[in-house]
Amino acid sequence: MGTYDLLVIGAGPGGYVAAIRAAQHGLKVACAEKRATLGGTCLNVGCIPSKALLHASERYHEAKAGLLSKFGIGLAGATLDLAAMQREKAKAVKELTGGIEFLFAKNRVTWLKGAARFESPTEVRVEEEVVRADHILIATGSEPAFPPGLAPDGEVVLTSTEALDLERVPGHLLVVGGGYIGLELGSVWHRLGARVTVVESMPSIVPQMDAEIAAEFAKILKKQGLILRTSTRVAGIERRGEGARVTLEPAAGGPAETLEADIVLLAVGRRPLTDGLALEKAGIATNARGQIEVDLKFRTNVPHIRAIGDVTPGPMLAHKAEDEGLAAADIIAGRTGHVDPAVIPAVVYTMPEVATVGLTQAEAEAAGHAVTVGRFPFLANSRAKTNRETAGLVKVIADAATDRVLGVHIIGSVAGTMIAQAAQAMVFGASSEDIALTCHAHPTHSEALKEAAMAVRGLPIHI
Ligand code: FAD
Ligand code: NAD
Repeated sequence: MGTYDLLVIGAGPGGYVAAIRAAQHGLKVACAEKRATLGGTCLNVGCIPSKALLHASERYHEAKAGLLSKFGIGLAGATLDLAAMQREKAKAVKELTGGIEFLFAKNRVTWLKGAARFESPTEVRVEEEVVRADHILIATGSEPAFPPGLAPDGEVVLTSTEALDLERVPGHLLVVGGGYIGLELGSVWHRLGARVTVVESMPSIVPQMDAEIAAEFAKILKKQGLILRTSTRVAGIERRGEGARVTLEPAAGGPAETLEADIVLLAVGRRPLTDGLALEKAGIATNARGQIEVDLKFRTNVPHIRAIGDVTPGPMLAHKAEDEGLAAADIIAGRTGHVDPAVIPAVVYTMPEVATVGLTQAEAEAAGHAVTVGRFPFLANSRAKTNRETAGLVKVIADAATDRVLGVHIIGSVAGTMIAQAAQAMVFGASSEDIALTCHAHPTHSEALKEAAMAVRGLPIHI
């Protein structure tokens, strides 16, 4: 029987990073992964392929819609070779998943190929092999969830996994769910020529985001041509010929209507994945949402078994899983590890991007803070203006009494890159004045963050 200091179950961004870090600390590590390639949801069917298509579709749209003509660049007659675009995406995925295999070999992490299943609290079966480990880290991630009564059929009614692999641009794509996946993949197929309708049951798209930012984001997407049907639910989907007939109802009740769609994408969230793990043999419980609850040291109710990433509570984001993986591995190796759940940035990679960290204004006020808010539009930022990408704004929320930054919300072409500075400021407990007094290079989009911070005290320069 193989014995290890640490067995990691799942090689997504949480699991593979934890396995490598533990091996760096000198532990004997194995990682069980049932997929044919490493990297989990993120590298295989999530972050990476979606960003590859977002990037490529943006380039196509720029060329096709003549967006570069104002710079004197004529690209009349631009054409789409979707098969080539998909091949390039697959290449990026292959290079990155192969890269993890290389890193496993380099760090002497043993990949146990197959599905893992607990035999006891210290023994796990992976296919025919039973291994024993002093520490076990569950990083099995998540899978798509479906609205009650609606299920994918793999042909017309799809999850994100199939919607990333379409071989033809649909005439009409109906997306159920106005969250991350719906808006990113909706944007991809819209740029490539599809009519896209996004059906969201809540009154706003990205309803968990700052309300002002969500409203501005909706305005921008509508201007681009996405059809957003908020406060609306999908009551039924019926296959009809090559497509589907979708019944919509106001979320508050009322008369139904029907729409014809070529493809329906179900994107209403994901659920933790623990199927087949036989958690009961390890004595591990899940909560009402199917998640494995952990303490600040990532311990489950069985202390030598830890869990991280999408299978645990909190935002389902790759970098959250990664940071938890690093911290858990450090703790298992006898060092210090910590993740601050209050400072986890999130980015929607549309154009413009939407990036957020910390509290929304409503959350800050509900938590009892009197807040001061500074805003700065990219319309007044010299670099955004030079690049002719002026959509969006930066919003800084600070505590009125202490000036400590509570949240930063950005819509802008490079918002995803800019949010790292805001996250770092928050981790260091910065005030808005700290950001305002930091010298920012000119001309950069980041100056809009400095200006928004100056605006907290009513002292922006360029507006
Ligand atoms: P996962 O990545 O889900 O990995 C878990 C792994 O465990 C899987 O490979 C699975 O095969 C394996 N596994 C499960 N059960 C077993 C078992 N019993 N035995 C062996 N192996 C098992 N997040 C971002 O931060 N940025 C993005 O841009 C982004 N884009 C996304 C786009 C899409 C379309 C989707 C679907 C998700 C996206 N996400 C993004 C979310 C991100 O993919 C997840 O938050 C992240 O992958 C979670 O990492 P994880 O390690 O917890 O789990
Ligand atoms: P999500 O939670 O982001 O959005 C789901 C949306 O569907 C919500 O707005 C919700 O109100 C709505 N909804 C729920 N039930 C509905 C129904 N019956 N009808 C209509 N609308 C309904 O989930 P997602 O977009 O499926 O993404 C899943 C997870 O993957 C997210 O939690 C996200 O963290 C992660 N993800 C992240 C990124 C990124 O970081 N850029 C990209 C894609 C996915």
